[in-house]
Order: sequence, then structure tokens, then C-alpha cells
Amino acid sequence: MAKKGAREIVALVCSECKAHNYATTRNKVNIEKKLEIKKYCKNCKKNTLHKETTKLK
Ligand SMILES: [Zn+2]
Repeated sequence: MAKKGAREIVALVCSECKAHNYATTRNKVNIEKKLEIKKYCKNCKKNTLHKETTKLK
């Protein structure tokens, strides 16, 4: 059985065009600060900084 509450699904949003490009999970028990990852944005057609935003529903 999986433990409840430790992991949550969050969206990664392009910091330039605000597109929701990725979804990932993070363990908020281990990681307190927000995720910031460089990823390819198909909207901007280049690598941009993606930031974690509110979790998906
Ligand atoms: Zn973008």
C-alpha cells in the first residue's frame, strides 16, 4: 500500500509564456522549496525555466 499525503502531483509552468507543459510529482516531506527546472517549451520553441505551480486537480 502506498502512503498517503507524502507525494503530490504538481504542474510545471513555463516562466516565459505560462504554458503548463509538464506534470511531475514531488515529495513535500523531503523537498520544501519550489522546483525550478530547465525544460523544453514547445510554445516558446526553446528551453526555458519551468516553475512549480499549484497541484493539479
Ligand atoms: Zn514557454
